[in-house]
Amino acid sequence: MNSWKDNIRTVEPYVPGEQPKDTNVIKLNTNENPYGPSGKVNEVKLDMNNLRKYPDAKVSALVNKLAEYHNIKPEQVFVGVGSDDVISMCFMTFFNSDKPIFFPDVTYSFYDVWADVYRIPYEQKKLDENFNIVKEDYMAENGGIIFPNPNAPTGILVDTDFIEDIVKANPASVVIIDEAYIDFGGKSVLPLIDKYDNLLVVRTFSKSRSMAGLRIGYAMGNSELIKYLNDVKYSVNSYTMNTPSIIYGSAIIDDEEYFRSTLDKIISTRERFVGELKRLGFNVLPSKANFVFASHKSVDANVIFETLKEKKVYVRHWNAPRISDYLRITIGTDEEMDKLISLLEDICCATK
Ligand SMILES: *Cc1c(COP(=O)(O)O)cnc(C)c1O
Repeated sequence: MNSWKDNIRTVEPYVPGEQPKDTNVIKLNTNENPYGPSGKVNEVKLDMNNLRKYPDAKVSALVNKLAEYHNIKPEQVFVGVGSDDVISMCFMTFFNSDKPIFFPDVTYSFYDVWADVYRIPYEQKKLDENFNIVKEDYMAENGGIIFPNPNAPTGILVDTDFIEDIVKANPASVVIIDEAYIDFGGKSVLPLIDKYDNLLVVRTFSKSRSMAGLRIGYAMGNSELIKYLNDVKYSVNSYTMNTPSIIYGSAIIDDEEYFRSTLDKIISTRERFVGELKRLGFNVLPSKANFVFASHKSVDANVIFETLKEKKVYVRHWNAPRISDYLRITIGTDEEMDKLISLLEDICCATK
């Protein structure tokens, strides 16, 4: 008997970090920003009657603001519903070869899901024993390349030359650099987009700009790349960005001072927290993100994870090859990290 079930696009979905209902939880599991978005959002007056109209399909207000901020042309900016939407559109638009796309074995765990759902062949290139990306692995024939810089969940950053070598070696592929965490101490490869027409840089408002709830992400690249992305977007859903997101997102870009001050706070909290983790016997990878990836020399990561959860502190743990000994811990406020440190002192020193 034939069944409609024979014709389904089956896929193993991405599993996002938990969003607990309990508001007393210290939430260090999804790399959200502990500080609110810029106060400029309070100055926005939304005319609710305007919501009867479709939003601007071109998202011009936000695109123009971002172009001005980054000193590029509006034709070089594509905006989407979070960088997840942007990257998903990129997979659909640029990864249509029979050759496999390349990304690291330990990386953002959505890449293999998009490859699966769009039936794109892929090869996961093994990070070295210190969790570094091996440049030469990305010099073989491929159908496209994507990785985050800094990488997630390791937090490890590579420099501009490293990425330029890969982009230069792959004129027949689009290379996507996912800069979700670049604002926390990395140097962007954005200046390279005028030199290489196969490089696309993706950013998000969810982490450094503290607006995960609005769902805003964007890509920057050669205007031809952006045109092809828009063609696909207009073939799927013309109105991906809703009116409030366009308005609120545009409103905060000018508030550079607040933006820088929250980044500085998160970076200094991170550096202090890393020192404390090391004192407690953790091995901590060098992070340039708003999270750290750490394993304890004697206490099992799952035990730490479960004990913290009981105490209402949520971090992230994957029962996956190579990384099951590690916890990914988002950098919260100093107060939140102090609470975590005191819990870790109990957990890790009691069982030593
Ligand atoms: C958080 C994250 C994203 C997705 O962010 P959005 O909220 O969809 O903008 C993309 N890539 C990496 C590496 C991330 O960590």
